[in-house]
Amino acid sequence: NRYRTEGNEFEDYFLKRELLMGIYEKGFERPSPIQEESIPIALTGRDILARAKNGTGKTASFCIPVLEKIDQDNNLIQAVIIVPTRELALQTSQVCKELGKHLKIQVMVTTGGTSLKDDIMRLYQPVHLLVGTPGRILDLTKKGVCVLKDCSVFVMDEADKLLSQEFQPSVEHLISFLPQNRQILMFLATFPVTVKDFKDRFLKNPYIINLMDEPTLKGITQFCAFVEERQKIHCLNTLFSKMLQDHRNRVFHDFRNGACRNLVCTYLFTRGIDIQAVNVVINFDFPKNAETYLHRVGRSGRFGHLGLAVNLITYEDRLNLYRIEQELGTEIKQIQPHIDQAIY
Ligand code: ADP
Ligand code: MG
Repeated sequence: NRYRTEGNEFEDYFLKRELLMGIYEKGFERPSPIQEESIPIALTGRDILARAKNGTGKTASFCIPVLEKIDQDNNLIQAVIIVPTRELALQTSQVCKELGKHLKIQVMVTTGGTSLKDDIMRLYQPVHLLVGTPGRILDLTKKGVCVLKDCSVFVMDEADKLLSQEFQPSVEHLISFLPQNRQILMFLATFPVTVKDFKDRFLKNPYIINLMDEPTLKGITQFCAFVEERQKIHCLNTLFSKMLQDHRNRVFHDFRNGACRNLVCTYLFTRGIDIQAVNVVINFDFPKNAETYLHRVGRSGRFGHLGLAVNLITYEDRLNLYRIEQELGTEIKQIQPHIDQAIY
């Protein structure tokens, strides 16, 4: 898995035990990169617009937070997942049932082309999570049998397709039935202009995830400092003397007690708030290969921010340093005594 450097675990998300069991029983050992990015944020209640290639695990990226958030003692619909096709609706509800196997969450699928009467009957029973195509859910909602006043999570999978002319009016109409404090999670693989327009109109301060493009080193000034292993902490302290005091204290503490060896410093503080704010990366331990280096130091070119990377290089790291420079066609200069803040 090429994006991971450190690696999260599903345990890190403090999920309900029953949900964690379902995840492991489904055979998922660790979160995929899109899951790592979206699950913790979705759990905070923030809107998300996430883009990742097909086959990267988007379904569980929203099913896990949805299942976590549902209160099984409240018999109203608390989450709706809309998808563009009947097949996908069936498949997605199946994933929810499997992941939620040990929870008492009622999942209902509803799509066009099946009996509306049957769906109406089923909605007289408790349903916590509704998965379906927008047209049918809208019909049921307009009839008043599907009640969305407690539906606080609204997921749009394959959102690019859901915003085609065929579906968009129903989707927007459906959203008008949601409560004010709803959370919208959008997942897609392509990003047509309709999506941008929709995002601007309906999402509140969305967290944008884009795992489509490779990070680049453009705009990032890279330095190396030749040190001995035992000098690393001292060197770090010197580097931090130009950073904010409270940040510095926290990072320094983590290094002292060994909780953290590879510092992506502002990343630690801003993860969950705004990943785009990362601007200083310090590799306390220099990565062994170019790929890891690139993913740690590089930035998604799209955001075009400036950045600074400082690599602590021991005698053993030297060959790696030259190799990585060559492989990435980049230059990692020896650090200067004073770093101009304007470069990051
Ligand atoms: P996408 O919607 O991004 O195209 P899916 O959600 O359909 O991808 O997932 C693709 C496949 O990966 C599925 O077979 C799914 O069960 C599997 N998968 C998803 N997450 C994990 C994980 N964390 N570990 C192992 N397999 C996973
Ligand atoms: Mg999918």
